[in-house]
Amino acid sequence: MRTATGRAASSAATAHQTGSMSHSSEAAPARVLIVEDEKDLARMVAAYLERAGYEVHVAYDGREAVEQARSIEPEVIVLDLGLPGLDGIEVCRQVRTFSDCYVLMLTARAEEVDLLVGLSVGADDYLTKPFSPRELVARVLVLLRRPRAAGAREEGHEQRAFGDLLIDTEARRVTLAGMLVELTRTEFDLLAAMSARPRLAFTRRQIIDAVWDPAWVGDEHIVDVHVAHLRRKLGDDPTRPRFIDTVRGVGYRMGSG
Ligand code: CA
Repeated sequence: MRTATGRAASSAATAHQTGSMSHSSEAAPARVLIVEDEKDLARMVAAYLERAGYEVHVAYDGREAVEQARSIEPEVIVLDLGLPGLDGIEVCRQVRTFSDCYVLMLTARAEEVDLLVGLSVGADDYLTKPFSPRELVARVLVLLRRPRAAGAREEGHEQRAFGDLLIDTEARRVTLAGMLVELTRTEFDLLAAMSARPRLAFTRRQIIDAVWDPAWVGDEHIVDVHVAHLRRKLGDDPTRPRFIDTVRGVGYRMGSG
């Protein structure tokens, strides 16, 4: 485990050099930053992620987390919501100003995910405690697989227009009336998946299959969280949405703009 104070040789690097990595034998192991003030839990999660082949760093409070996120540039941050001082929401907000890494938020209660809906915090996934370390490792893997999965199912790069909303799938760029809209990767992936099939009413499960992974297991409510963020950023009124329609009893569909 690597911390701010000590940098031990990581088992991840060894696994990488011996070529036993299943997901990549070329690239350096992905960097994961764990932010958790419960030290035993942080160490256990770190051990599991190291065994899975990642370069793991740990921060025990919010301030340290933001510093490490800046210096280490992790691909994924496993971020506990309940931290002393700077909490997970504030850490996420600060990290988002300089990084678009994946954020997997750990919450103490399932209801906290509901609270997060009302906040403009762009976590990519949520996991409620207590969780099995195996599940956490699986979630991290799913996040890291996503950009590649998106590339593999590319159906041609294009500009998609929905009224004054323009989605450029190649540049991963979204503009609304000519103004750039800053989206997290998850928000972009969701918009890209739905806009690829604009007439389809997606179930939450279909959205999860397209954006997360068919193997993703968890509360499908996560889709609502991201739709809420996306609507806010697109200036969509949930009662009269222009871009993301609610299809009662089903899920969501792209609006006409
Ligand atoms: Ca905590």
